[in-house]
Amino acid sequence: MSDNLFAAVALDQKLTLDYAIPEGWIIEVGMRVEVPLKSSLKKGTVIALKKQSGFPNAKPIARLISEKAVLSEPLWKLAQWMSAYYCAPLQKTLKCFIPPNLRKTVKPKQEFIYSLNLTKEEARAKIVEIRNSPIALILEKLLKEESPFIPEFSRSSLQTCLKRKWILKREKTELEIAEEEFFPTKPKKLNEEQASCLAKICQSLASKKYATHLIQGITGSGKTEVYLQAIQAALDAGQSAIMLVPEIALTSQTIERFRSRFQEKIAIWHHRRSLGERTTAWENLQSGQTQIVIGARSAIFCPAKNLGLIIVDEEHDSSYKQSEEAPCYHGRDIAVMRGSLENATVLLGSATPSIESRYNADLKKYTLSILSSRAASASLPKIQIIDMKRAMDISGGFTHFSQELITAMKERLKNGEQTLLFLNRRGYHRLQICNSCRNTIKCPHCDLGLTFHKAENQLRCHLCNYGQPIPRSCPSCGGLESLQFKGFGTEHVERSLHALLPGIRTLRMDRDTTTQKTSHEDLFRQFRSHKADVLIGTQMIAKGFHFPSVTLVGVLNADSSLSIPDFRSEETVFQLITQVAGRAGRAELQGEVFLQTFLPDHPIFQLAKTQDFEAFYLRQLEERRQFSYPPFCHLIKITSTGSDPRDTEEATLALHAAVQKELPVGSHLLPVLAAGHAKVKDQFRFQFIIKTPKVKDLHKTLSNLSSPLPFKIDVDTQNTFF
Ligand code: ADP
Ligand code: ZN
Repeated sequence: MSDNLFAAVALDQKLTLDYAIPEGWIIEVGMRVEVPLKSSLKKGTVIALKKQSGFPNAKPIARLISEKAVLSEPLWKLAQWMSAYYCAPLQKTLKCFIPPNLRKTVKPKQEFIYSLNLTKEEARAKIVEIRNSPIALILEKLLKEESPFIPEFSRSSLQTCLKRKWILKREKTELEIAEEEFFPTKPKKLNEEQASCLAKICQSLASKKYATHLIQGITGSGKTEVYLQAIQAALDAGQSAIMLVPEIALTSQTIERFRSRFQEKIAIWHHRRSLGERTTAWENLQSGQTQIVIGARSAIFCPAKNLGLIIVDEEHDSSYKQSEEAPCYHGRDIAVMRGSLENATVLLGSATPSIESRYNADLKKYTLSILSSRAASASLPKIQIIDMKRAMDISGGFTHFSQELITAMKERLKNGEQTLLFLNRRGYHRLQICNSCRNTIKCPHCDLGLTFHKAENQLRCHLCNYGQPIPRSCPSCGGLESLQFKGFGTEHVERSLHALLPGIRTLRMDRDTTTQKTSHEDLFRQFRSHKADVLIGTQMIAKGFHFPSVTLVGVLNADSSLSIPDFRSEETVFQLITQVAGRAGRAELQGEVFLQTFLPDHPIFQLAKTQDFEAFYLRQLEERRQFSYPPFCHLIKITSTGSDPRDTEEATLALHAAVQKELPVGSHLLPVLAAGHAKVKDQFRFQFIIKTPKVKDLHKTLSNLSSPLPFKIDVDTQNTFF
């Protein structure tokens, strides 16, 4: 019999209040409850039990939503740690952990199978009769095979078919859901480096003690194979595993690789899945029915039962950091913390580990394993730096492509091999500038020049998506014929390539061509089945795909990122070049990479050329030690937003002064500045950075901050500029 009479309940909306525990009820920390507030019932989570309360007349809890605690004890501890470390309200933090169905009421999604209820002859007759209607397409599809719900058909067309009794619908059975076909693959015989890495991991797993391993393995060195075998080892020991991959790498190709290795069901976790799908996955994980989950950042909060292994692939990837809203957590750091709370083994892998993680390995906090050669028969591509100033001189004017790159592309065309062209910018022309008053045409809502998109014949804002037609005269000085386009994007590259090599088949992949849910996958499938010779794209093409017949990669302009005034910009460029270059020559064919730049002597390109991560790491580490940047301190960024620039700056200055007053010894405060994008969607943004050896020392100060305007605290910010 418990003698706790009160429960502290964190309501989903902000407040935390005490409630009385009704006689005879068993309440545990982590349970979901409904409690009275004013005249209605509100949902919340029990966060503490108490013998006494400052409010002895507290109202009783009205109803239990969950019979068990929704969070295990370690997850509960993790939530508390996270809320404190990232200075975020517990309510907001708990939202990461608690699935939406326990917050809102949703039905788990059922999956259906549709089949014909007509003979084949009848169906064919109907198709002729109603040719070209969506209904004919449904019948045609079902003539070939029965099929699950197909997104390309509208619900209303399906309903019509059902109503006319032309087709039947039944629920998909568990078995059918589990048995979607994959070619089973067998574990590969590991090479020496892989085997020694796996042995260390298995030792950790067997000890059931927390340890973090960092696998620093070049692209194609067989890191994924090590992950697969480590997961198998965890399963064999009756433990479950969580695998995180960067958002854009969560492709069907990645998922298939895992599904085809394991008999067990695998849960796929990302925000595009329906609430119902997530609920089912969550429940299956909590009950232990599913033991493997693969997902983007937020999968780290999945309630995997008896968790033994957490893998973070491409651990350096910036998509692991939540920076939009509180809690601004880092998925990789949460993984390490969760591992230590659950006595699990954590595996961080990358060809270009973050400087922070690699430094942790140097400090022996992490165990380092290096995979130094490509597995299978492939070898690393040869990287050449091309001086674009020279290339322009030779071509007698502007060109996207150096002679070397053109020759290499022609050769690929002849041999039936494929080329990737990488460019950091989408659209046709980057900016429109007035030649007489030198003004750039800007977004009326943001502090950013508008980009010209030829396909839609519009100027568009890359921050808020505002669009407008091309002006005839300069909006600032009224000058006619003074407007000029500057800079280029993927759209322009594609067009120029067609002009240069008529008949060449291209696909373009950037945010403009991937607006549909499936377009990303469709483009890759087309490219893999060789429907195009060249794939032109932004970051999207750098990750999560394996193209056996790509033997040439052209990095068209890697310089632009270097001009961003952030201490990580060199690191970002090195990582990106490594990733993109790593797409070439992954099979038997030798790969070749051309790195076009106006700064051919920049040390970062020289290091990228030799793919010398060690030298790159030492250079970065020295720089960061000298100027005191992570890993030698933590950076906390505080950003205020408001509709008036003066008020916003003033509010930020007030926050700055409040921090200054209680700044712990050893911490430094940098001045208030307008953010790199000083205005976004009509909101002005001012910010400042705190450098501190210990985040904890600032918790009290930061949690007491208040301001008339909204502000965001980003602990361990990944970007000091934007
Ligand atoms: P990474 O994840 O480091 O980029 P992968 O695990 O994708 O590398 O491996 C690259 C290729 O090498 C894959 O096709 C994989 O099947 C193959 N491979 C990995 N390990 C081995 C091995 N020990 N023997 C043979 N092939 C291997
Ligand atoms: Zn805008």
